[in-house]
Amino acid sequence: MEIIRTVEWMKQVARAARSDGRIVGFVPTMGALHEGHLSLVRAALLQCRPVVVSIFVNPTQFGPGEDFERYPRQFERDCALLEPLAVDYLFAPEASELYPAGFRTYVQVEGLSERLEGRSRPGHFRGVATVVLKLLEIVQPTFAYFGRKDAQQARIIQQMVADLNLDTQIQVCPIVREPDGLAMSSRNAYLQGAERQAATALFRALAAARREVEAGERDALRLVAAMRAVLDREPLVSTDYAEIVDAETFEPVVRLRRTCLALVAAFVGSTRLIDNMLLEETDEGFRVTL
Ligand code: AMP
Repeated sequence: MEIIRTVEWMKQVARAARSDGRIVGFVPTMGALHEGHLSLVRAALLQCRPVVVSIFVNPTQFGPGEDFERYPRQFERDCALLEPLAVDYLFAPEASELYPAGFRTYVQVEGLSERLEGRSRPGHFRGVATVVLKLLEIVQPTFAYFGRKDAQQARIIQQMVADLNLDTQIQVCPIVREPDGLAMSSRNAYLQGAERQAATALFRALAAARREVEAGERDALRLVAAMRAVLDREPLVSTDYAEIVDAETFEPVVRLRRTCLALVAAFVGSTRLIDNMLLEETDEGFRVTL
């Protein structure tokens, strides 16, 4: 695995692979890698060579008072996890390489960016869209891999790629969970003891809604109430939102139809966690994917 630190060299390496007719795969991350990230890398390796993974803790997607400074950085460990998978390139630029002095251009995906995560974290998706557009322009991959764990982010990236006519196909991969259901996240490292236990409330809330759907419930408010009841029962958990939205528009729905997402965000102590579940209408009813 070759570690690349500069935009120029990353562009040159990716351009050479493309001109050899190779299928370039790309997995953007902020590091502190876990099985969720590695599942994206494995998906990329099944379809592409070379595979480029990036590790960049993107300052522009963190708000004031958020955890940019304390976000886990474990570069040596991350390299040791990627090496045995035979990843070809690890792109790990300094912040000044992507945001040199005088940087002043940002990308805004309107509408989709203002709801849910965007409402709780103003400017977050502007930072995400900007850095992902830059990375996609640098690597110009055939396929780029994102996790459904960050469903709104994946939707926003898909919209940006369509709107800006980028030549990359966005692949959205399943959520990888701990054995007790907690969605894997680099931020889970902040959770200790009772907080770690309480954090499963997000998964349990979604699972409660799943049981309701499987019993025939289609009313979104009732499903939201089922999720809230589980979250409210946990004293260490403070709910930010629990909603059911259309998977394309991210607008709230009254009744389940077509493809919806149930989404939850909550603080466990001072750690903010998110999770979601996919609800797809089929001829036999709703297929629920946690
Ligand atoms: P991050 O490093 O948190 O920015 O995440 C990098 C990529 O990994 C994003 O596309 C995430 O959606 C994805 N990801 C993070 N956690 C998980 C998970 N538990 N399962 C699947 N994908 C994940």
